[in-house]
Amino acid sequence: MADIVLRGGRVIDPARNLDQSADLLVQNGKIAGVEPGLADAFKGAKIIDVAGMWVVPGLIDMHTHLREPGQEYKETIATGTAAAAWGGFTAVCAMPNTSPPNDNRAVTELVVRRAQEVGVVRVYPIGCITQGQKGESLAEMGDLKEAGCVAVSDDGKCVANSEVMRRALEYARGLGLLVIQHAEDVNLSANGPAHEGAASTRIGLRSQPAAAESCMVARDLELVALTGARYHVAHVSCAETVRLVREAKRRGLPVTCEVTPHHLTLTDEACAGYDTSTRVNPPLRSEADVVAVRQALADGTIDAIATDHAPHSSVEKEVEFEQAASGMIGLETALPLCLELLDTAMTPMALFARMSTAPARILGLPGGTLALGSPADITVIDPQARWTCDSARFRSKSRNSPFVGRAMRGRAKLTLVNGNIAFAEERLVG
Ligand SMILES: [Zn+2]
Repeated sequence: MADIVLRGGRVIDPARNLDQSADLLVQNGKIAGVEPGLADAFKGAKIIDVAGMWVVPGLIDMHTHLREPGQEYKETIATGTAAAAWGGFTAVCAMPNTSPPNDNRAVTELVVRRAQEVGVVRVYPIGCITQGQKGESLAEMGDLKEAGCVAVSDDGKCVANSEVMRRALEYARGLGLLVIQHAEDVNLSANGPAHEGAASTRIGLRSQPAAAESCMVARDLELVALTGARYHVAHVSCAETVRLVREAKRRGLPVTCEVTPHHLTLTDEACAGYDTSTRVNPPLRSEADVVAVRQALADGTIDAIATDHAPHSSVEKEVEFEQAASGMIGLETALPLCLELLDTAMTPMALFARMSTAPARILGLPGGTLALGSPADITVIDPQARWTCDSARFRSKSRNSPFVGRAMRGRAKLTLVNGNIAFAEERLVG
């Protein structure tokens, strides 16, 4: 494997609070140097000029739906990881609501094997909390962990039964596994496709209150206090959940959480045109909720940004809003959308902490840093590149994105995984 030098970029490493202009040397798949002048010292290396660009630890998505096995018409491990690399991600965590669900080691092993065969970036499976995601009996978490699962979640569904959730937390704690909750009181949400508020009333959509999420988080936090288990809230969407998590962290509870780019950038007003790509679960919330999650992301109450990349075909989406499947794709648009946050309260250092260093820390994964000796999982970003979001460029198999047509600024130009080029813009590497 040839040495690579990324020459003259702005190297940002939140893991070490480092932000400097330097060359970065990759040798044998590892980061072997970060300092000025390496391009001159290693003339035999493949030199890639990244002046004006940012060199950051490879982005890690804690929350991706790859749809394989079982729904390969929506996405596959090959297409989903290609979309990830294009979007600047070097690793994705595969949610277990596949068909069959990843509730046993045979499915985990299949995902791991397929990822090795066709995956462009690293794939870390997440196993189910309960068998068949039915919320009744616990999955064999020990088996799941042994086979390669890095966390457990019934994502797509909430673990509603408090006794089952308590046992899940206790069991996961014993195994050192993180429990990721899709927090939704389904009696309260009643499958409402929109957020309960002024917009849904005006446009006449059935709705669910923000409390459908925060009620479940409040209950879970009591169970975390009872069990001492590590707990993570998926796709936090509202002000009340933010308040609960902030308070729980103050109490010293082992809780973390994530927010999606769409909950950071869109309000419930985006549903006014009945565009089914804006139907997501939890739904797009009010302006006040968006302000609250942005603030929480900036102050660290929200630890991580995760895409909840949820591919659906036209069969599920070209229907009435109320009948449409929930979810939008996100791997290709997450980075430019998050770069928009830099215009407000976030610094690049804080942003890449949320998109790389924190997910690595929460899940105990390699990466999330540019420290010497680390695997060379690196994303090179042109923060000024102007482009229009065009679905024809998507590597994902699905097209369900409300951001098509949006004017974007900034995108990934090069994605290295273990020192190998997973994605590169042609002009950059010649
Ligand atoms: Zn979910």
